[in-house]
Amino acid sequence: MFFRELVLGVLLSWTCAAQVPTHADILRGGYGPYRANNDLLFYHLDVRVDPEKKFIGGKNTIRFRMLQDGTRIQLDLHEALHVDKILLGSTALPYQRDSGAVFVDFPETLRAGRVYTIDFYYSGNPVETGRFGGIAFRQDPSGHPWVNTACEGIGASLWWPNKDQWRDEVENMQISVAIPNGLIDVSNGKFVGKTDLGDGYTRWDWRVHYPINNYDVSLNIGNYQHFADRLGNVPLDFYALPEDLDKARKQFPQAKGMLEAFQHYFGEYPFRKDGYKLIEVPYSGMEHQSAVTYGNHFANGYLERDWTGVGISPRFDFIIVHESAHEWFGNSITAADQSDMWIHEGWATYLECLYVEYRWGREDALKYINGYKSKVSNAQPIIAPRGVNREPPQDMYFKGALFLNTLRSVVDDDRRWWALIRGFYQHFKYRNIMTEDVVEYFNRETGMNLTPVFDQYLRHTALPTLELTFDDANGTVRYRWKADEQGFTMPVRVGTKDHWRIIRPTTSWQTMKTPLRKDQFDVATDLYYVNVAR
Ligand SMILES: [Zn+2]
Repeated sequence: MFFRELVLGVLLSWTCAAQVPTHADILRGGYGPYRANNDLLFYHLDVRVDPEKKFIGGKNTIRFRMLQDGTRIQLDLHEALHVDKILLGSTALPYQRDSGAVFVDFPETLRAGRVYTIDFYYSGNPVETGRFGGIAFRQDPSGHPWVNTACEGIGASLWWPNKDQWRDEVENMQISVAIPNGLIDVSNGKFVGKTDLGDGYTRWDWRVHYPINNYDVSLNIGNYQHFADRLGNVPLDFYALPEDLDKARKQFPQAKGMLEAFQHYFGEYPFRKDGYKLIEVPYSGMEHQSAVTYGNHFANGYLERDWTGVGISPRFDFIIVHESAHEWFGNSITAADQSDMWIHEGWATYLECLYVEYRWGREDALKYINGYKSKVSNAQPIIAPRGVNREPPQDMYFKGALFLNTLRSVVDDDRRWWALIRGFYQHFKYRNIMTEDVVEYFNRETGMNLTPVFDQYLRHTALPTLELTFDDANGTVRYRWKADEQGFTMPVRVGTKDHWRIIRPTTSWQTMKTPLRKDQFDVATDLYYVNVAR
């Protein structure tokens, strides 16, 4: 996803900080006993959408394996939607609704290790809410229905019943969407076929071959035109409104360069069997897995602006690069709790810089990433409280990326860095992880204790400050880190741009000789995101 406008972002951050989690937030954000007792295997979401009536109805077939004996599981469905019935075979199951949660009860104990399948029937008029509408029933400029979903944050249970959390994903999924004849539905996965239902509706069937986040599941119903291409063994499919088709044919081929860059750094595109799709939508964009949605005006930059303000954003389409970066970080590797969403956004933002480096070199990449400093507020930790359905502050994007750039400088060996980040992706692909997993990986693979560095940047608000005290008469400088983390230590380059030397400050004062006076002594703050006090 991409961030909000700054003013709104600050406002929301402030609101979140003051917020005590509600009962509903704990039900949504927690991983309670009726979620933890089962493991999702498969969904078949099979719905009918009436764009005129803004109505959706149908069923989700949910297959899961019990991990413990139990008689109850927790699913989720927004209160605005009606539960029609929940069936185990032909047996109707009792259920209890509690805000957005639906607790389903079974007449007999479900046994650990066994697989069960239930059909959850529902219907109603979903609420349009959130930044992108969640599920939005609109019309395109020529008056055709245009229905799109984008529900990260508010949650997929806004428009379909599922186990609405981040930790557990189905292994694969089927999506069937019946819509009025003449329209097209583009969802995630591989297009299987369409069936005329004989009642004015046509069903579009899609098959997702990989684990998928609930919020990535997407409907895009409209008067779309389609064109196709390939990159190696990855099918590329592009969908745009007829009036925008020419613009799309010019802009969407940027997807190839994006895929080449990210495959270079991290390895094969994660969802080859599902292909890669770009789909025009009325909002800026979203990383829907294998079906990235796009509303960036068919222009470079972000919404026609130079996003980091240093002249590099106008060279590429920000939404194609950022949202598609999530295919590796966010969709393939997923955070197990929204609290650790920097694993999606910090990494996707860092991948923008890698894209710049791949295309235009290291110097432009450094310029691009340092352009993000003006967007960091350092007002709240990047990692939000866990288990309470809370989105972390916007710093997870920019500070997250600047932190990864800093980590590269700490490793101080680019060949090693490329191997590390590729290895990191390969090790955790298709898995749901937390920050602890990231830290453990980097500690193990570098042989360094990077825990205080990760913790300072992700769990505290303040940047580390390099304190310098000069004694020009004696030609010395004293230095130390001021940081929240006890035992914070991080190497940093100081001196002059042509002759950096690496020092290893700790939180205790050390002294070194320098021929440089206070006003000549520089710190490589484009390589390390730190404050300097002198
Ligand atoms: Zn994003």
